[in-house]
Amino acid sequence: MSNSFVLVINSGSSSLKFAVIDSQNGEAVLTGLGECFGLPESRMSWKFNGEKTEIAIEGADSHHKIAIGKLVGLTEELGLQQDIVAVGHRIVHGGEKFTTTVRIDEAVTAEIEKLSDLAPLHNPAGAIGIRAAMEAFPSLPQFAVFDTAFHQTMPEKAFTGAISNELYKEYGIRRYGFHGTSHYFVSREAAKMLGKSIDESSYISVHLGNGASVCAIRNGVSVDTSMGFTPLAGLMMGTRSGDLDPGVIEFLMKKGWSPERVFDTLNKKSGFLGVSGLTSDARGILEAMQEGHEGARLAFEVFTYRVAKYIGSYMIPLSQLDAIIFTGGIGENSLDIRREVLNNLSLLGFVEDAAGNADARFGAAGIIGKSEMLGAVAMVIPTNEEFVIAQQSVELL
Ligand code: ADP
Repeated sequence: MSNSFVLVINSGSSSLKFAVIDSQNGEAVLTGLGECFGLPESRMSWKFNGEKTEIAIEGADSHHKIAIGKLVGLTEELGLQQDIVAVGHRIVHGGEKFTTTVRIDEAVTAEIEKLSDLAPLHNPAGAIGIRAAMEAFPSLPQFAVFDTAFHQTMPEKAFTGAISNELYKEYGIRRYGFHGTSHYFVSREAAKMLGKSIDESSYISVHLGNGASVCAIRNGVSVDTSMGFTPLAGLMMGTRSGDLDPGVIEFLMKKGWSPERVFDTLNKKSGFLGVSGLTSDARGILEAMQEGHEGARLAFEVFTYRVAKYIGSYMIPLSQLDAIIFTGGIGENSLDIRREVLNNLSLLGFVEDAAGNADARFGAAGIIGKSEMLGAVAMVIPTNEEFVIAQQSVELL
């Protein structure tokens, strides 16, 4: 039987992640990264059969286009091309237009470009990736998988901001939510692991990476999520503030701060980095805390307290809870952060299973605690967004 591999492309403003994924088991046959696009050090590297190769990207043409062009020769050379049946693109913003994965044609690409107003950094890059891939692989069908799509099931009361409704009608200001592909994947995996039907079970999924969000999933659909109109809302993150009194913005601007400086600070200099004054990286925070660094301790406490508060509040849209699911680089690896979050949830009956928590790391799923009171467990499920992109592309074929 021939393979059905999907070339998965995640195109950023100055970078491009790519992978060839086996749509049957999620295995990454080839993974790679293009970075520093537009700069003299622009380069592209990939890993195949455990071996890493790096090349420079040179030329006046768009570096996205050059990199995707190189994938044609590379997949041919590695003997993968005859098994690639589709190209799947990760697209950040689907607005209210895209509620599911779609096959790409000119109208879809134009619509993604039109949504750039809502995601000015991400959607234009996504569209550049699509156009370059259409040219490089003209015979392959292409699909778009949206970070926002899974959350389009949120009820009106969850996505409506408590501001003038005119702002929604005129500008589309509402909660959209992101990380949808990850929340979708881990909730399905959790249901399988627990032997439950996804249509009759409920989860609070907690994706903790450099970006972080919580999602309430009731009978398989997203009913609320912590990121909002932009990914800045909700949890404290590596460099993002998460929720903040909007009055702070007015205060800083009256002190003479420009809007650019305010939002650069909230997006790039806050979160772990801002509170600790040290690093945006959770591992660095945990190590510094061990050595007695006060800022790191405070960052750890604010982060875990806020994660637990969100989990507590997401009991509201659910009528039962089957599991809290931890995922993302921090959620999959940091037993200390998971333990502290569960400690903060003791009123809901959560107790850590210390052995389970120690075992569920570095790619291993597992149960790390439970609440007898709620009849729920806490668990770890490693996320795999590329697998979802590959599966959904092949399903639509
Ligand atoms: P992104 O959101 O960019 O995809 P990841 O999901 O890879 O990021 O998560 C990155 C975060 O995961 C970093 O803060 C990193 O320190 C953290 N992380 C990775 N491994 C560990 C570990 N062993 N212990 C604690 N944190 C970890």
